[in-house]
Amino acid sequence: MYDVLIIGAGPGGIYSAYELVKLNQNIKIAVLEEGNPLEKRNCPIDGDKIKSCINCKTCGIMNGFGGAGAFSDGKYNITNQFGGTLYEYIGKEKAIELMRYVDEINMTHGGEGTKLYSTANTELKKVCLENKLHLLDAQVRHLGTDVNYIVLQNLFEELKDKVQFIFNCKATKVDKTEFGYEILSEKGTFQCRQCIISVGRSGSKWMEGVCEHLNIPTKSNRVDIGVRVELPAEIFSRLTDELYESKIVYRTDKFEDLVRTFCMNPRGEVVNENTNGIITVNGHSYADPEKLTDNTNFALLVSKHFSEPFKDSNEYGESIARLSNMLGGGVMVQRFGDLVRGRRSTEQRIQEGFIVPTLKATPGDLSLVIPKRILDGIIEMIYALDKIAPGTVNDDTLLYGVEVKFYNMEVELDHNLETSSKGLFVIGDGSGVTHSLSHASASGVYVARYMMEKGDFNE
Ligand SMILES: Cc1cc2nc3c(=O)[nH]c(=O)nc-3n(C[C@H](O)[C@H](O)[C@H](O)COP(=O)(O)OP(=O)(O)OC[C@H]3O[C@@H](n4cnc5c(N)ncnc54)[C@H](O)[C@@H]3O)c2cc1C
Repeated sequence: MYDVLIIGAGPGGIYSAYELVKLNQNIKIAVLEEGNPLEKRNCPIDGDKIKSCINCKTCGIMNGFGGAGAFSDGKYNITNQFGGTLYEYIGKEKAIELMRYVDEINMTHGGEGTKLYSTANTELKKVCLENKLHLLDAQVRHLGTDVNYIVLQNLFEELKDKVQFIFNCKATKVDKTEFGYEILSEKGTFQCRQCIISVGRSGSKWMEGVCEHLNIPTKSNRVDIGVRVELPAEIFSRLTDELYESKIVYRTDKFEDLVRTFCMNPRGEVVNENTNGIITVNGHSYADPEKLTDNTNFALLVSKHFSEPFKDSNEYGESIARLSNMLGGGVMVQRFGDLVRGRRSTEQRIQEGFIVPTLKATPGDLSLVIPKRILDGIIEMIYALDKIAPGTVNDDTLLYGVEVKFYNMEVELDHNLETSSKGLFVIGDGSGVTHSLSHASASGVYVARYMMEKGDFNE
């Protein structure tokens, strides 16, 4: 019998464990994690012998200690303007306070010396507005994939003797009992008084099953679809030197859709992402100067919200990604010049271009995959970005597709992130409330503090 059982060792799970231990050393906590410990996490795709996903039992990129964020670029955004809607539950001030708190912990666990960028008082905001672009407010700590890894190593070292981590242990079922919850898993059955579920995006489908089983209401209606743009770093340096990452939103003239930049990686790399066996594109970059590339990449995304009767927005996104996987065997790449001329890119056209791709992807035609309305919006935004970053519109600019941001169905939670099944909390991306390292971590701290304030473990 554990006092608290946490399912998932991503940022949400790690920070709830961290805060619980900090507030009360006497409670018995276990973390069940489907994937491997940090040092054993590994993706076999080497671009040489193994070129595409071989569907490992657990994905080295998405599962394991550190969760989906372990090999991420470690951009830690302190803002309520994007990254989730935690503030709707706990209030804007509290959300920012907790994001700052986690940032401080990251700084004392290996992140010291990393740079905090801010959009406050920047001239770029005005330049964006003059060109129908809107720069969102945020502070961004860029840890980089390498420093992010060190922070995770240090957090694990600190927690490993106080919390029982059980790896390669997928929770399969959650049942309510007289005393709390019973968790069935690949390594047996665990009992706990209270349970925190933090299974992230990769655990989304499983989470849906848990909600169905325990009659917890959910809703799901959003998916973001788009491409990852790669261009010479100099073109975006005006934005990235000052802000590192800028979140810019554009309303298209044609359909009045919102297109936004997402996950900007100055001098970074474009990478494959595997969600439930479907290969989509993502990007990251390193803090280590030796690992920098000549290119900057970022995503351009359009949100699709669905109304009745269609509910499965993720299935819609998956179907589009599957189509690109079917045509390209994985991620597809196309030169901007080829896209606007209505022709596919070929190996030769890519090679003749002046931009050297950082990801080996299959040259193809994104217009065969991405719905016209979305693609039109993306093209329109590329022209708008060209006004603040001249050179963005260039035949050689590379577009990788598809990039899909899946949103978990939203679990119905009260303002303490507790479900209608008392003692069962759902946090992080798996709750549908957060979509980022900062919001997910902050939600973990929030629930840990709430549990302790309630005093359930005082006797
Ligand atoms: C390539 C990439 C780059 C990213 N870059 C950034 C970035 O720069 N900045 C940013 O803010 N965000 C970034 N993100 C998003 C960020 O990583 C997530 O928002 C964050 O990790 C969410 O934390 P979480 O704890 O909610 O879930 P996750 O990190 O997804 O962790 C969930 C964990 O639960 C485990 N799990 C799932 N189901 C079960 C089960 N049934 N039983 C046991 N364990 C289970 C999984 O194995 C996983 O380890 C990136 C994501 C990816 C994939």
